[in-house]
Amino acid sequence: MASIYHERLNQDMTLILPRCREHGEVGRAMHDLMAELYPICRSITGEGVRQTLRILQKRIQLEMREVPSGTTVFDWTVPLEWNVADAYVMNPEGKRVINFKEHNLHLMSYSAPVKKRMSLTELRPHLFTLPDHPEWIPYRTSYYKENWGFCLRHTDLEQFGDGDYEVVIDSSFRSGSLTYGECYLRGETSDEVLVSCHVCHPSLCNDNLSGIALAVFLAQWVSAATRRYSYRFLFIPGTIGSITWLAQNEEMVSHIKHGLVLTGVGDTGSITYKKSRQGQADIDRAMAHVLKHSGEPYRIIDFFPYGYDERQYCSPGFDLPVGCFMRTPHGQYPEYHSSADNLDFVKVQSLAQSYRRCLDVFELLEGNRRYLNQNSKCEPQLGRRGLYRAVAGQQEKQWTELALFWVLNGSDRHHTLLDIAERADLPFDKIKSAAEALLEVGLLKEYRKPGTA
Ligand code: ZN
Repeated sequence: MASIYHERLNQDMTLILPRCREHGEVGRAMHDLMAELYPICRSITGEGVRQTLRILQKRIQLEMREVPSGTTVFDWTVPLEWNVADAYVMNPEGKRVINFKEHNLHLMSYSAPVKKRMSLTELRPHLFTLPDHPEWIPYRTSYYKENWGFCLRHTDLEQFGDGDYEVVIDSSFRSGSLTYGECYLRGETSDEVLVSCHVCHPSLCNDNLSGIALAVFLAQWVSAATRRYSYRFLFIPGTIGSITWLAQNEEMVSHIKHGLVLTGVGDTGSITYKKSRQGQADIDRAMAHVLKHSGEPYRIIDFFPYGYDERQYCSPGFDLPVGCFMRTPHGQYPEYHSSADNLDFVKVQSLAQSYRRCLDVFELLEGNRRYLNQNSKCEPQLGRRGLYRAVAGQQEKQWTELALFWVLNGSDRHHTLLDIAERADLPFDKIKSAAEALLEVGLLKEYRKPGTA
């Protein structure tokens, strides 16, 4: 007679292949979504963010929220809304030598309006290039200091001759709002998993259309899953967006039990996880466990107060258990913040792998429960329950039995399945399958700590 446990295992094995195919398709679909969003000129405010969120609304249940310019958010103020209709530089021969409509990185984000003829000497301090990568257009912003500028290929700049240039930036600053998107998916309890990504970058792919695409596909998965946790996905402009959200939702943050900032998840580098400020929060342990058992190279780095929105979530007044999931950290690849961070730079395989690891973490968090061994005085007799396999030899059988023993031994109401998996040094899903098999034969009972959901 095959044991319940082995039948379960075989069923799981039959699921593995279709799931791999499915994840490859998800990677492709994420890339397609990025291609759709790529041409849009986004900034920390303005129509580009709304246009982006409207596209996401076709896929997930996303609320678009508007916070008026001038709103005080802790030590900051929501800025004026910036929009741009056109921007170019015309040379003395009447040719547009820089044209925003060809690539939105050509215009420095938040550039003030300009309409003026000027000499190259006067124009030059407003032009930015990357001499080390002469074919790439850099990405520059000037959000909180009034300025204007153009970014261009260094090879193009070298063609600029003397004479008067016509400079036009048809941009506007108006009292409008900061726009962000929020997708809240209610689970069995009000305890929350927060997923946050920045939506303020224009035509740049790894940073951070990849994070946006990953958040969308994770939200789709969550909405179809039976879930204990509620999930909140935030699509916000970097820094000012998380500060604004925290300022306006301060009373809700106590629900956040686990969180991830998603950024740069499509390059070919290995996965990097930056721990929360707490360092040993469940999310940090869950991510470390999943990566360790993934069989793939990865890197775990300690928290530092620089980077993305984890800086705000992990500020000492909040100190939320929010880590940052990425591949190659920002600034550590030359394409970062340049036109070379394009659709070719991000790979379907990397996107699919990032998706898979985040799902592993969600599955771990959902399944991480405490149990109570119902036969805790000495070992129960597994053989007569169809759980024990005396046949030695096959490694797989050994660990299945080992997992059963670890779960029985660890289920003393004090330890979660993650505690047990860490101590046993076995993958969480094996420990969880063992717990499910033991539950089925009545050897375990779920234990809920008084006062917990
Ligand atoms: Zn960036």
